[in-house]
Amino acid sequence: MKEYVVRGLLGDSRVLVGESLDSLAALLPERGVLLVTDENVDRLYGDRLPDFPKMVLPPGEAEKTLDTAREVYRRLVRLEAGRDWFLCGVGGGVVCDLVGFVASTYVRGMGFGFCATTLLAQVDASVGGKNGVNFEGYKNLVGAFNQPRFVVCDPAVLATLPEEEAASGLAEVVKHAAIADPDLFTFLEENAREARGLAPEAVLRMVGDSVRIKSAVVSEDEREAGRRKVLNFGHTLGHALEKAAGVSHGYGVSAGMAAAARLSVDMGLLAEEEARRLENLLLSLGLPLSLSADRRAVADALLRDKKRAGDTLDYVLLSGLGTAVARPVPVKKLLALLGLDS
Ligand code: ADP
Ligand code: ZN
Repeated sequence: MKEYVVRGLLGDSRVLVGESLDSLAALLPERGVLLVTDENVDRLYGDRLPDFPKMVLPPGEAEKTLDTAREVYRRLVRLEAGRDWFLCGVGGGVVCDLVGFVASTYVRGMGFGFCATTLLAQVDASVGGKNGVNFEGYKNLVGAFNQPRFVVCDPAVLATLPEEEAASGLAEVVKHAAIADPDLFTFLEENAREARGLAPEAVLRMVGDSVRIKSAVVSEDEREAGRRKVLNFGHTLGHALEKAAGVSHGYGVSAGMAAAARLSVDMGLLAEEEARRLENLLLSLGLPLSLSADRRAVADALLRDKKRAGDTLDYVLLSGLGTAVARPVPVKKLLALLGLDS
C-alpha cells in the first residue's frame, strides 16, 4: 500500500493506493457513519462493507442530482446526524461526487471519505476535491471544492468493471502521462496489454502515478486559476464529442487528445513522431482516435465552451510527451483543423 497526501485549502486528504476494501472499517469512526453506494457496487461488494446504516442508490450519471442529494439529507435527518457524523461513499465518480456534495453542505460540512471502485474514480474523481451534482442538463453545475479525509483505491475491485468503464479511466491515465510524465508514458507503451486488462500491478502503477501527478498539479492550484488547466488536455473537444456522439467520457477524451496532439504538430510544438506515439498508445489501449458525430453539434458545443475568450479558445497542447502548455487558439483555426468549418 502506498499513501499519498493531497493538500487542500480545507485540510489534507489521504489517498491509499493498494489498500483493500476490507480495511474500510479501520478508517471510519466507530459510530455515526452513513454509507452511500449504488446497486451494482452493493450487489458485488455490499457484504464486505462495515456494519453501518447504508443507502443504496440506483446506478448512473442520471442520479447525480439535487433530488438524490435531498434523499441523502433526509436519511441523515432521520438518523439525527450532526456535524460529528461521517459520510462514506463506496462507488464510482457518481457516488463520490454526490457524497462529497452532501457532506460539504449538510450542517455546513461534515467529514467524508471514499472507497473509489472505478478506475476513473481512482485516477481522477478521488483527487482534486471537486464535488457536485448536475443541474438541468449542465454537468456539475452546483457543487463545491472540498477534500475527502481519505480515498481507498483497491485494485482488486476493478476486476468486475465493464470494459467501457475501464476505458474511461485509461484515457485519464494516458492524459496524465502525456501532460506530465514521460516515464509513465513509456510504461504504458511497454505494458499496454496489462494496462488494458487492469492487471493489479499495472493498476497500482497507473493509479499511483496519476494520484501523484494530479495532486501535485492540484496542490499548486486548487481553484483552477492557472496550472490546473493542463488537466483539461483532451477535454475541450472531448466534452463536445461526448455530448454530440453520445459516447463515454473516456472515448471523448481519447479522441480529444488525439486531435490536440495533431493541433500541437500543426502549430510546430510537437514532433510528428510523438503525435504518432500517442495515437498508437491510445489504439493499443482500445481507445478511439476519432469519433463520428454531427459536425454542427460538435462545433456548437465547442463554441459554448467556458474557456472561450472572444475568438480564441484557451487550448491545452503538448510541447513534448510529458509536457503540456496552454495556448490561445483561434476558434476558426480549430474548427478548420477538425474539419468542422463547413
Ligand atoms: P465513473 O466512476 O465512471 O464516473 P459511475 O459512478 O457512474 O462512474 O460508475 C460507472 C458504472 O460502473 C456504474 O454503473 C457503477 O454501478 C459501476 N461500477 C462501479 N464500480 C464497479 C465495480 N468495481 N465493478 C463493476 N461495476 C462497477
Ligand atoms: Zn476527464
